[in-house]
Amino acid sequence: MSGIPLYWKYPFLLRLEDVISNPYTVLPVLIGSPDAPLYEKTLSYLKLIVEKTSVPQDRSFYNSDHEVIIFHSLGLVSKAIKEPQLLTRTAVAYSKRAGFFFRSENDELLISIARKIGISAAKTFQPPRLLRVFEDEKGKRQYGWLSLSYGISLTSFVRLVAGRLEQDSSYNLSSQIVHEGFVYVDRKRFARLLEEACFHYILKTYEDLQTPSADFLSEIQPLITEVEKYLENVKWWKRSFVKDRGVGEEVYGVVEEAFPPCMKKILSIMKTGGNPSHEERFNLAAFLVNIGYSVEDVLAVFRTTADFDEKIARYQVEHIAGLRGSRRKYTPYSCDRMKSVGACPIQEYCKGGKHPLSVYKHNLKLLKQSAEKPEAGNSSSTGKTQ
Ligand code: SF4
Repeated sequence: MSGIPLYWKYPFLLRLEDVISNPYTVLPVLIGSPDAPLYEKTLSYLKLIVEKTSVPQDRSFYNSDHEVIIFHSLGLVSKAIKEPQLLTRTAVAYSKRAGFFFRSENDELLISIARKIGISAAKTFQPPRLLRVFEDEKGKRQYGWLSLSYGISLTSFVRLVAGRLEQDSSYNLSSQIVHEGFVYVDRKRFARLLEEACFHYILKTYEDLQTPSADFLSEIQPLITEVEKYLENVKWWKRSFVKDRGVGEEVYGVVEEAFPPCMKKILSIMKTGGNPSHEERFNLAAFLVNIGYSVEDVLAVFRTTADFDEKIARYQVEHIAGLRGSRRKYTPYSCDRMKSVGACPIQEYCKGGKHPLSVYKHNLKLLKQSAEKPEAGNSSSTGKTQ
């Protein structure tokens, strides 16, 4: 696989500006309308990502520039239609493909990719070895040594396993060999951690993409319209709208004390002027509009963020509240999904269900019950109702 160009395999390692100058002027010519050279290709990539969480591998010719342009275009289109779940799925697809290629890359390249995406790692020359017990084809117990040839800095390791790998106990720090600030892992595990690092790097790259201007959007409008039509056909919007077990029902009444830890955490980032991720913002907004906040109330919460832009925020919140676009009100992710994107701050699950809205309902009920108990000696309201 060494003959395949590097950036064809890992297009996220380059910026759009590295392959085209004045990208926002040139891009509409390349992807904007049906007769543009990369219009069909961009659509075909998007469709495979939506349907199979996979990136096409057109091996007929390895054009790295096209791969880089399509990679960034997918991010811009998802941003244009305000679809954070599509960004996440695209990041999963590209990082999975990178993980596939990692299997056959040499050590130096793996280390250099790790460093390029901000992971401090090194190949060890006298690696620690671990006695491994395994069964051969005949089911007979065998022993062998596993070389932990890759060192990954403790801070990088902790950061990487804090999200989607958190549920896998084999990544617990207590199960690792740690020496002088490095966690030692074998090649297979290193490749998996690197895949995870790519996922976060891609999401961050998309988050940092310049917000498309109105002019740019109007120039790629035919592509956007086609993407929206396609997503409508495959019922993408319904997929992200949780309806089962009553979760889709609105839960009225605002008692901040009853918020689940995930929402409290995002709120606290907001209140302290922090910069929550795109997904955290989406989930908080979706949560708030479902418990009775008006668009104005949600905007008031978001106004404290460092990069608040009234026009963009209003558009996004109205979209989430079902007042624009597909006209469907969104709900936050399920707890499993929150955990998979690293937005759940706890190890287990909250009581009351596996969805932040169910948990909120449950907490509200408990608060109400405790307020009604005569022995509580307090007949006043249990929480702050805004
Ligand atoms: S378990 Fe669910 S409701 Fe509780 S903090 Fe995590 S994501 Fe939020």
